Amino acid sequence: MSVICEHCEAKKWKGETPGMCCSGGKVQLPRLVDPLEPLRTLLIGASAEAKHFLTNIRRYNSCFQMTSFGTTKEIRESGYMPTFKVQGQVYHRIGSLYPLPNEKPKFLQIYFVGDGTQQAEQRCKNVPQTRQDIVLQLQDLLNHHNCYVHSFKSAMNKISPEFKVVILADKTSHGEHKRRFNAPATDEVALIMVGEQHGARDIILEERSGIIKKIPDTHRSYDALQYPLLFWQEEDGYHFELRQRNQDCHNLRFLLCSSTRTE
Ligand SMILES: [Zn+2]
Repeated sequence: MSVICEHCEAKKWKGETPGMCCSGGKVQLPRLVDPLEPLRTLLIGASAEAKHFLTNIRRYNSCFQMTSFGTTKEIRESGYMPTFKVQGQVYHRIGSLYPLPNEKPKFLQIYFVGDGTQQAEQRCKNVPQTRQDIVLQLQDLLNHHNCYVHSFKSAMNKISPEFKVVILADKTSHGEHKRRFNAPATDEVALIMVGEQHGARDIILEERSGIIKKIPDTHRSYDALQYPLLFWQEEDGYHFELRQRNQDCHNLRFLLCSSTRTE
């Protein structure tokens, strides 16, 4: 990824177009915040523990991902080096908040089952070759700092058969939910009454069911739910409410700054 965007510093592959990251500087993306400990040290990779983490970083992400990966067509080839090929479209899926009776918790469901040790045990059981001590540390980080974990837990305290949890597809101006939703939990995760209208791209989570839903790839949480170790605070991805920066203001500020400098 040797091509670096001069506007937003995104690292891109050679074949990716100049405008695909920030539309040539027209959109100002928020900067990613430096990760907190222990994630920071693990990502630097200086210790033996960190080297093990980096070698297995996909496995560790799988331990915490809230959504699962799906594809319209997959081909599995066994043999000396088993391969997994994807054809057609890929998508991310999400299930209900709690598992069905007699089923083991998976993905998002693990965040709400038992105590910290039980959760870490379940994560390591679901994803082999991961170390429980590292999983426990990362789990603490996400429990304290990931806004989805907080929002889901707070919404679930109030959930009843009449309500479902909704993750809104776009950022909305503050106060709008008060009119749209009953008992909002936070700005972007809220409770919605069963049967009440919602946006076509919003994610609606049932309390307990066997239904698995596809997440639209234009939903702002698409990446944050799938890669919690990259988006450890739940940073938004691209969404329809992402505004272009006002080019006139930008030019004016540039003129003012350069004229001050020459005076
Ligand atoms: Zn860019």
